[in-house]
Amino acid sequence: MKAHADDPVVCLRGITRIHAGGVRALDGVDLTIGREELVAIIGPSGSGKSTLLNIAGTLDRATSGQVFIEGQNVSAMTDAQLTELRRHKLGFVFQSFGLLPLLSAYENVEIALRIAGASIRERGQRAREVLDMVGLSRRAHHRPYELSGGEQQRVAIARALANRPSLILADEPTGELDSTTANQIFDLLQDVIAREGVTIITTTHDRLVMEKAQRVIELADGELQTGPTYFERDRKEAVAVPWRPPESWNAGARAAPSTPPPDEPPPQTWRRPAPERKVPYHPPASPREPL
Ligand code: ADP
Ligand code: MG
Repeated sequence: MKAHADDPVVCLRGITRIHAGGVRALDGVDLTIGREELVAIIGPSGSGKSTLLNIAGTLDRATSGQVFIEGQNVSAMTDAQLTELRRHKLGFVFQSFGLLPLLSAYENVEIALRIAGASIRERGQRAREVLDMVGLSRRAHHRPYELSGGEQQRVAIARALANRPSLILADEPTGELDSTTANQIFDLLQDVIAREGVTIITTTHDRLVMEKAQRVIELADGELQTGPTYFERDRKEAVAVPWRPPESWNAGARAAPSTPPPDEPPPQTWRRPAPERKVPYHPPASPREPL
């Protein structure tokens, strides 16, 4: 099936994942994510965030339920088809960067293009372009150990962007970074969405993401939570933003009704209005962060 421009980028339908040993990491998750969204998945450790990201990124298969990427049912694909899909449509960013230590920043990006079959000329052009986008042109020939954590993560983002994916999956991308650097990484993710038209799903423990993401989705014990997330309750501004429980839910009865009134949107997520297109991301002026 061919992708259509109006297909959601990712659609999860009734996803349950039971790991070896019987751990039910996800339980009946339904989630649809559109183009150019920055979606944050939050929740305590062990709540199923990585499992959800791995299933959306086709690195793991659901025990039951279906995954669609740009309208294609990936649950029905062979491993070879999934490999092709991952090379061309998906990009991955990990907490510990995952760069090849003996290769320079440039080579780490270029190899992703090489694996996807890009020509020499395309490889050079695109590798320079994405390194420039993440503000690392001048560090292109440094190896990972010569770069700070924030710089290494920027290389990883450049690598994830190299093949012009539709979707980038970032599992705790700021988990090993200080808060200033983490903030810069989230700014950069916003910026690459605006420039490249990608969709990004990130898991995080980082409250900073509340300022940046259009949607924050909370997982607990493998289930998407309904109602405001704990972050929303904490932040007046966020609570003031879009979704509010209908008056009737708070009047009289303590518990919310089992199904929302039909004219209300489902309360599982909230959306921040898309941010205005901003000035492009500028890498920090400081010469070098500590390793
Ligand atoms: P999070 O990323 O939110 O910390 P995970 O998705 O890693 O959560 O894990 C969810 C649950 O599934 C946890 O109880 C974890 O121990 C379990 N789990 C994750 N991966 C595996 C695995 N490969 N084998 C067995 N259990 C797993
Ligand atoms: Mg995890």
